[in-house]
Amino acid sequence: MNPNQKNGWLCPSCGTKSMSIDINKNEKNAKVKCSLCNIDLKINTNNYSETIDIYGDFIDLYHENIEKKNLTITDLQKGFLEF
Ligand SMILES: [Zn+2]
Repeated sequence: MNPNQKNGWLCPSCGTKSMSIDINKNEKNAKVKCSLCNIDLKINTNNYSETIDIYGDFIDLYHENIEKKNLTITDLQKGFLEF
């Protein structure tokens, strides 16, 4: 897998490779979006340059908040974005 690829990341919610990761280096954030389910998040990226790093952080965030704390994507969009 290309660590810089924008599309085709495995979505932890719907289990398909429908996620895209769009890095905005100027704003130091990235948009993580699934074209099949309701995941659509902006996360802080510090100085990451590769999408695979963002993807790893997103997966951690997903497991930590959605699976363990039973939050929803909507909660995350409201600002529960701490890693
Ligand atoms: Zn999905």
